[in-house]
Amino acid sequence: MYMMNLTAKQFTEVKKTVTTVLLPIGMMETHGPHCSLGTDVWIPREFVRRLDLLIGEKVMIAPEVPYGHSWGLAPFDGTIDISAEAFSAYVYEIGKEFHRNGLKNIILFNGHGGNIASLTSVVEKLADLGMNVLTINWWVDYREQILEITKGPGHGGEDETSLILAIDEKLANPSLVGNHESKLNPKIKFEKMGTVLFKDGYLGDAGSATAEKGEKLYEMMLQLILVDIEDLWRIAAK
Ligand SMILES: [Zn+2]
Repeated sequence: MYMMNLTAKQFTEVKKTVTTVLLPIGMMETHGPHCSLGTDVWIPREFVRRLDLLIGEKVMIAPEVPYGHSWGLAPFDGTIDISAEAFSAYVYEIGKEFHRNGLKNIILFNGHGGNIASLTSVVEKLADLGMNVLTINWWVDYREQILEITKGPGHGGEDETSLILAIDEKLANPSLVGNHESKLNPKIKFEKMGTVLFKDGYLGDAGSATAEKGEKLYEMMLQLILVDIEDLWRIAAK
């Protein structure tokens, strides 16, 4: 169920049985010439919409956090980069408020790579409050299985673009792009390295993306996400 649709009275009633809140977290940033700036918001939204159909009676879906931290893509137009400190503090405060409202399990459904480091510290602090926290970074957590469907994943790559096309084919245009691979050593950082790493704002074989592959990715990952959520509930029941 979506928290946005509940009255305060319904909220009070619902949390007698629902102990899990799902917080989608995204980013506004460039995703190459072929995908919209809201890509990292669209994809968690779609996962969550599908999850709601499957387990909506057991999870309260919170409104998303649409802005995050993006050091790497900050040099590109359209990237709204919130500092790691401000972003972490904000997400922690949201989690803390859910805890104060009586929800002891939280799922951070993240759509953006630059958020990961900040979320790690948030998760530790929320766990210290007594919350059980599941973080999902879909492109990292299910990478092995993603590679079986899309061989050229990456930021705005074949996997992400396919997931967007499966939502709406008007949201991305893979014919505008090809395959951009990076030979950079990921252990080295330098000023504006994102402009080299991502060149036109993306990475991977975006030109091979299709809606059909995107649909397969959603179906495959949803099953794995359900397993992770069951694991969260198993830990919470102890
Ligand atoms: Zn993205």
